[in-house]
Amino acid sequence: MIKPGRRHSALHFAEHAKEDNTVAALQPVRGTHDSLPEESGLHRLVEDTARAVAGRFGYGEIITPIFEFTDVFARTLGETSDVVTKEMYTFTDRSGDSLTLRPEGTAGIARAFISNGLAQNAPIKVFYRGPMFRHERPQKGRLRQFHQVGVELLGVENPLGDIEVITLGYHLLEALGLAGRVVLHLNSLGDLESRAAYREILVAYLQSHRERLSQDSLTRLERNPLRVLDSKDEGDRAVVANAPRLSEHLNQASRDFLARVTDGLTRLNIPFKLDPLLVRGLDYYGHTAFEFVTTDLGSQGTVLAGGRYDGLVRQMGGPPTPGIGWAAGVERLAMLMGEAARPVVRPFALVPTGPETENIALELADRLRRAGFVIDLGYSGTLGKRMKRADRLKARAAIIVGPDEIAKGEVGLRDLETGDQQAVALDALEAALARLV
Ligand code: ATP
Ligand code: MG
Repeated sequence: MIKPGRRHSALHFAEHAKEDNTVAALQPVRGTHDSLPEESGLHRLVEDTARAVAGRFGYGEIITPIFEFTDVFARTLGETSDVVTKEMYTFTDRSGDSLTLRPEGTAGIARAFISNGLAQNAPIKVFYRGPMFRHERPQKGRLRQFHQVGVELLGVENPLGDIEVITLGYHLLEALGLAGRVVLHLNSLGDLESRAAYREILVAYLQSHRERLSQDSLTRLERNPLRVLDSKDEGDRAVVANAPRLSEHLNQASRDFLARVTDGLTRLNIPFKLDPLLVRGLDYYGHTAFEFVTTDLGSQGTVLAGGRYDGLVRQMGGPPTPGIGWAAGVERLAMLMGEAARPVVRPFALVPTGPETENIALELADRLRRAGFVIDLGYSGTLGKRMKRADRLKARAAIIVGPDEIAKGEVGLRDLETGDQQAVALDALEAALARLV
């Protein structure tokens, strides 16, 4: 609610426009988007499918708040990550607390794992969905409010967990008809020992090319040099292309871990490509990192991405708890599926021929909806106008309610595919409709 007397820019704009007698082009905030019913139906299909597939693996839904204390993200995602340095929606609330609209789901779930003392029940397997917020430069497939579905598996050290979580992602892509249009990129970030050893080698290499690195990467070089590998800057990428590879500096334990994961994926016939340059954008990953990528969405090609984050829960002050998970962009998955995948609900149009049968139509609509049919009531206008609306809705059939028919205890039922019309007794209507759905 907007309190009287308080100025609100959008409202003010609308009033102003009215005075001017111009049409107010009220725009949504840059990078946000209204999903109208057809599109939201496709988004819901993605979410429902993800929830169902995750359910088959025993992952139940967790719903965490859309905002958290800023520390939940700032302390975990990495001081030098793009998300923390540039993308967070952070504000001070009326109690003076610094809060942030969640840019991703994992940190909040790790927080919930600790707050709710879930360590005792580990392993914990959860699915989540919902809006995420990042102040990025909006473009196709990149929004400031977007939506993710994701899963997290907490408390499993065994690479079987990695295999399970990747397989779950693959099953989802299969269920959405997308498995053939994406490639699974896989890398190992190694254990702490491997990363520490590699870090030195990488820093030495990057130092020798300092003059070609971006300002951001020079900062990363000090604080978190692995992050340079993930830079999108072209100059950085040229340097990175010839950098020593982490994969060549993994210790035996890290190599064994990766081998177990690749063996599992091979057994399950999940194709993958080892990608030595794949590092995830956030700080808390180790061992397995993976992304399902398509070439069909330009540079916004990553549709589902994740990895292992064994250090996260501990870093937040909880008991040491290994974790692995992924998140997928709902808008990107929906875009990849395309218009054709939009679920179509074909209603029955209930059409009174005029005001004199409107009340009967009203009661009939109620009866049919209670019986489970999708009914669109033709509110007003001539019969012709009401029938046109039925066509526009792509109604399966029109139920025409005229005074003469009603007097005989009947309605007209017109099949809008064939154009055939027949009289149907009122008490046989449900059965007749059931034959058409
Ligand atoms: P990118 O490299 O595209 O910026 P990311 O590494 O920042 O992706 P993650 O944090 O791994 O992305 O999020 C998982 C998924 O969420 C991405 O693969 C993508 O499908 C989706 N996603 C991330 N950011 C956005 C955004 N701004 N708009 C729409 N979808 C997004
Ligand atoms: Mg990003």
